[in-house]
Amino acid sequence: MKSLWKNEEVEGFSKDPLQLRVYTSRLLGANPDLVLHGGGNTSVKLSQKNFFGETEELLLVKGSGWDLATIESPGFAPVRLETLKRLAELETLSDCEMVRQQRAAMTDPGAPNPSVEAILHALIPFRYVDHTHADAVLAVTNHPDGEQSIQEIYGNRVIVIPYVMPGFVLAKKVRELTQNKNWSDYEGMILMNHGIFTFDDDAQESYEKMIELVTLAENFLKDRKALDSLARAESEEDLQKLSLIRREVSRIRREPVYAQLDSTAEACGFANLKNINELASRGPMTSDHLARTKPEPLIINDDIEKDVSLYARNYDDYFRRNTNGSQEILDLAPRWAVWPGYGLVSYGRSLNDSKVVRDIVSHTARAIQIGEALGRWEPIAEKHIFEAEYWELQRAKMESFKQSPEFQGKIALVTGAASGIGLACACEFVREGAAVTGLDLNADVENILDRDEMLGVACDITDSGAVSNAVDETVRRFGGLDILVLNAGTFPAGKLIEDLDDQTWDKSIEINLKSQQRILKTCIPFLKQGVDPAVVFVASRNVPAPGPGASAYSVPKAGQTQLARIAALELGQFGIRVNVLHPDCVYDTGLWTQETLERSAGRYGLTVEEYKSRNVLKSDVKSYEVAKMVCTMAGSIFAKTTGAQIPIDGGSDRVI
Ligand code: ZN
Repeated sequence: MKSLWKNEEVEGFSKDPLQLRVYTSRLLGANPDLVLHGGGNTSVKLSQKNFFGETEELLLVKGSGWDLATIESPGFAPVRLETLKRLAELETLSDCEMVRQQRAAMTDPGAPNPSVEAILHALIPFRYVDHTHADAVLAVTNHPDGEQSIQEIYGNRVIVIPYVMPGFVLAKKVRELTQNKNWSDYEGMILMNHGIFTFDDDAQESYEKMIELVTLAENFLKDRKALDSLARAESEEDLQKLSLIRREVSRIRREPVYAQLDSTAEACGFANLKNINELASRGPMTSDHLARTKPEPLIINDDIEKDVSLYARNYDDYFRRNTNGSQEILDLAPRWAVWPGYGLVSYGRSLNDSKVVRDIVSHTARAIQIGEALGRWEPIAEKHIFEAEYWELQRAKMESFKQSPEFQGKIALVTGAASGIGLACACEFVREGAAVTGLDLNADVENILDRDEMLGVACDITDSGAVSNAVDETVRRFGGLDILVLNAGTFPAGKLIEDLDDQTWDKSIEINLKSQQRILKTCIPFLKQGVDPAVVFVASRNVPAPGPGASAYSVPKAGQTQLARIAALELGQFGIRVNVLHPDCVYDTGLWTQETLERSAGRYGLTVEEYKSRNVLKSDVKSYEVAKMVCTMAGSIFAKTTGAQIPIDGGSDRVI
């Protein structure tokens, strides 16, 4: 492991202890082999003048909710050192009281809650304290002879603490085991099955000790050839099954989740291990991960519904075996899955959640194999796993991540998404928590919809191969498909039937009708596996109230409407709702230019302004208003409606 410290980077603040603390915390956070996503914590002890000008000794410790990789100085909670030390002397301290007393001892009420390890940081008599969950240390300590190996690696250079629950209990244990020790005799502290601490009065030294001690553990693994045994395998792909597993996991969890397949050679190699069922179920790398991963993964065999139900039953049993009656059981769904032949799947209510799980799991898969190569991978016992998983402070941390916009965890596909109504729909779905794939003939869509939860795909919807690829890419990226919005269309210039050329007619039929049927057909197998699936056709007011000269546009739109009605009849048995929206007077889309507006207005003998407000409500309709209606129709308000046609046109006297 290499030190990332660079003298030139600290030049401006080499005398500022808090800035140095921020800097080395970020160096730790930058290395995923040390900490992952919010894991680990650091602190610095400082004398500061309070409001009244009196000097106080403070511990500035990482605040809960901050990530070491991106932490800034407001991420450190300032707590009076004396109070923390006094708390450590108590016989017992409930989590709730610990949080209250720590908050009460803060000199800035606006700062975040101090890390759950604040008391432990306070006990270590050095200015800088660094704590990580280094992979190499965990691989060595999650082993029946872990302490022996630690002794072999470090000799007397470190204090060794057997596993106990993090928080107050751990701080007590450390206090008890170090009472007759001189901290200056040690360079670090190993917490079995949990992680490692280093400390020093100098920021750089404390950080460099971390790098050095972890490197020693890495060298030990190299010497034992434990790193040589990492399995690798080629993976297959089965998007239909991936989406079915997501549906089943969402069903058990009672909310939609994203599913991300890690099909790298390492992930697949791990999933294919012979004793994977037993091996993957032994427990986590460090209890810190439990809130993200739960103790065990789902193991996928052939019968997916059975596998998921079995997981739920086992989780329920595990809870009942361990609860003292005061805890409330979490949902029964897995957070990740081992899928032999295909790789590892991670689940999350947000894409970020599933990404965090994916990263933790890929490090865990490696550590498990290293542990096995050393003799045996053996994490903490089940009762400790349970105690840590149901630790109210961990739970509180997870609860704060919860937010539930309407489409959180759902996956939508919108056609014609580079501009106008389609783009407005894509944005509205994402704003309401969904992940969206947007198709458009305009290749700019790939730049317009380029975020984690937005996938833009340049696609000619008349090309069935391209459509099929775009649908596959959606499932590959997000795990399934729940909502289809058929919005793309063409608006040919108005012509009387006797003047209409075949080419214009054929092109409109191709785009506005035939392609719509093909997209729907391609999506149906995935929609059948969707969570509360819905299809919305964006047709036109022209369907119920056609105008002369608009046959090339109106006829395929009427066909679309009939297609939707039949789809509603055919797909209802699978819970798929199909509804039609008929917009009109939407002038902020690509279809309408000043020129086409003037031409259309002229045909009715109106000015552009008169033309734009020629409906009953005397108001034009905005793209975003149509998008909101599309979302409403795809959402819970329309849960019991299918086969309906809804106008959004400001009221047409010809329709009413
Ligand atoms: Zn820790």
